[in-house]
This record gives sequence, structure tokens and C-alpha cells, in this order.
Amino acid sequence: MKCAILSVGTELLMGEITDTNAVYLSRQLKELGLDVLYRYTVGDNDSRLTEVLELAFNDVDLVITTGGLGPTDDDMTKETVTEFMGDHLVEHKETVDALREIEVERRHQFSQNNFKQTFLPSRAEVFATEAGTAPGFALEKDGKIVICMPGPPREMTNMFEKRVRPYLMQFKEGVIYSRILRLFGMGESRVEYEIHDLIEKQTDPTIATYAKPCECSIRIASKRKTEEEAAEAVDEVVTQIKEIVGEYIFDENDKDLVNVVGEKLIANGISISAAESCTGGMFAEYMTSVPGISEVFERSIVTYTERAKMEELGVKQETIDKDTVVSEDVAREMVEGLYAKTGSDICVSVTGIAGPSGGTPEKPVGLMYVGCRYKGTTVVQEVLTINFSREWNRKYGTMTMLDMINKMLDGREIPTNHRLK
Ligand code: AMP
Ligand code: MG
Repeated sequence: MKCAILSVGTELLMGEITDTNAVYLSRQLKELGLDVLYRYTVGDNDSRLTEVLELAFNDVDLVITTGGLGPTDDDMTKETVTEFMGDHLVEHKETVDALREIEVERRHQFSQNNFKQTFLPSRAEVFATEAGTAPGFALEKDGKIVICMPGPPREMTNMFEKRVRPYLMQFKEGVIYSRILRLFGMGESRVEYEIHDLIEKQTDPTIATYAKPCECSIRIASKRKTEEEAAEAVDEVVTQIKEIVGEYIFDENDKDLVNVVGEKLIANGISISAAESCTGGMFAEYMTSVPGISEVFERSIVTYTERAKMEELGVKQETIDKDTVVSEDVAREMVEGLYAKTGSDICVSVTGIAGPSGGTPEKPVGLMYVGCRYKGTTVVQEVLTINFSREWNRKYGTMTMLDMINKMLDGREIPTNHRLK
């Protein structure tokens, strides 16, 4: 079934709020195997809303609207849709009863305009609301359907889950199965370049790459008659992709790197400590987002100044003097000092230049050294990020620490020179 999503509200056009409803609905409809061909946004204006409905129904069989169902005067989606579909409004007894019940429950009297919401199209299939006061509905005419839902995201998603999805199940076509591969150390354009041949020749499964801060994803999706068929087709493509960029993939089912690492540490009872300079505690922040990490996460020491690195970790003044505080040897001494102090199974360190100032031709902003000690071996990686911003550099440093831990746990090779590809 071909669908369009129509968001109603002048505030959307003004950029005052972000249209999260459309994003949510796109994902939900895709999961049902329904094809979303268009998304429209229109202000609170009945003639323009009518025009968009006309335009949409040239191509699609189903239009889902959100917004404009409220009790105020600018809310006119229901009236406009009802007229467009050749119907008229009648009082809907169950909705009146529901409102009266809420009044009793909350000891609150609704104002008269709330009862505007109790009038619904005579032929409508009504979707009662549990999260608000405005019901939604589906209205059909000559095989074309409009579904109207309220604008507030909480009300809308609740109604979709409880009422609209079950209603849409009758139109469900095939099954979509998808997997998301997550990569670190290779940017989106390079990933696309590397797997270009696969992308070119595929129609199903589809392959799409997405850039995220400091990482990249590849989504592989297939629509088939059964989930097994779709999964088989997707898995085959995943295998082909892994042959090309496998060393950059840290998860094959959309898991965050910190969770991948955290779960491995917890499952194997491997303790960990960190010494952070330029990331300023971001590593600790990430680690502590993992439920249950207290079993293995011992500490992270933020040693920002030279003095702190010397006092807390035993970094030597002469090591700093030799090649500055942002150097391979300092990262190594940080790790060794941390190990001497904590005895943690894994010790990681980072020292670098987050910017925007402080860079030199030899030591530019975005340069970092990340050290990791595990099973008696210490490896230090020299990292040079693209330096989009201070925030980016700090995050990239944190991600590199996690990536190194992940690779060391897996016994994988770690290049000493890390450049984002
Ligand atoms: P309405 O039903 O048009 O009165 O919308 C009520 C409120 O829901 C708006 O003020 C917004 O805060 C929110 N809202 C409406 N449409 C959207 C949308 N497409 N995405 C996210 N929030 C929305
Ligand atoms: Mg509105």
C-alpha cells in the first residue's frame, strides 16, 4: 500500500518544533511493509490542507495526518478531512462519556471547546485516546483512507501502538527484516566507496550508509514473504560486506560501542580503569551509561595538567620535556602508572589536543595518543582526527579508547597509527 505522511501545524513550518511525528511514522510504516512515498507539512489552513490531500491522493491510497485535532480554533484537520472525504460530523457518544469520566476522575471541568473533540465523522472508525483527550480516526472513501491522529508525540505514539497499528495490520505486505552494522575508524563516504559495487547491484536487500558523530552505520534491509527469507537474504549481504570492511565493524546489530565493550567486560569479569586527559571524563561518562558496569569499572582519573599526570600517575618530568605532554611515551607512562596504582585487568589512557587552540605544526589539534594495557602488553596508538570541533575530538578520543579495548579483548590487531579513513 502506498502511503503519505502529512504533518499539520504552522509551528512546524516556522521551525519552532521539529517534526518527530513524521520520523516515527516513517519507521513504523516501513516495519509494516507499507511504502511511504511522500511526507508533507502544511500550516493550520483548511484550503491548503485540502490541496495537499488532493495532491497526495493522486499517488497514494493512505494518508496519515498528525496535528490539528485539538480543541482550539486553529485546529481544523478533522473538519477539513471530513469535508474532503464527503462526510459530516456527529457527536460520538463514547468520546463524550470518556471525557465525562476524566472530569470526575480529575475533579476538573472541561471547558466547552473540549467537547468539540467529541464530534467525529459519521463513517469513521474511531481510535479512542488513552494519553490525551483528542480521539483519532480512520475515514475511507472509494478505497482511499485518511487516518488522523493528535499532534503531541506522546499521545500520537500511544494511539499508534494501541489502535492504529492493529488497524493497519490488514494492509500489511510482506515482512521487512533489517540489520544495522556499526563501524568505527572509517567515514561514511569511504565506506560507501568500498562497498559501492554491492550497493549498485542490489535492489533487495537494500544497502544504505549513514554518518553519525565519529562513526558510521550500514543498514541492510529486505522485504520478503517470510521473515526467514528476508533474514537469509540480509545475512548473505552482511557476509559480503564483512569481507570488505569487516575490520571496522564493531557490532552487527546496532549496538553502541560502549555497550559492546561494557558487556564483554562484565561477562568475563575483566576489571578496567582509565586515565583521561583531553577527554576530561567522557570515557567515565560513557562507561557508567552501561547497566551493571559497577562490577568491573574501577575508576577513571581525570589528570588534566602535567602536575596531575605526575602526581596521580607517576609520569616523569623528563618524559614530558622530551616530547611534550601529548606524546606516545606520556600515554604509555600514564597507563603504566595507572596499572601500578589500580592493578586493573585493563588500563587505558588518553592524552591529546582537543583544540581549538594549542596546536603546533608538529602537534596539531586533533592529535591524540591512546594507550591500552592488557595481559602484560601495552599498545599506544597515535590518533589524528579530522578535527571538526573540540567536542568531536573529545568524542573521537573516547571512541578510540573503547575501540582499542574492544580489539584487545578480541585479540585483534591494533595499528599504531590511527587515521580516520
Ligand atoms: P496540535 O494537535 O496541532 O494542537 O499539536 C499539539 C502539539 O503537539 C504542538 O504544539 C506540538 O508541540 C506537538 N506536535 C504537533 N505536531 C507535531 C509533529 N509533527 N512532531 C512533533 N510534535 C508535534
Ligand atoms: Mg496545531
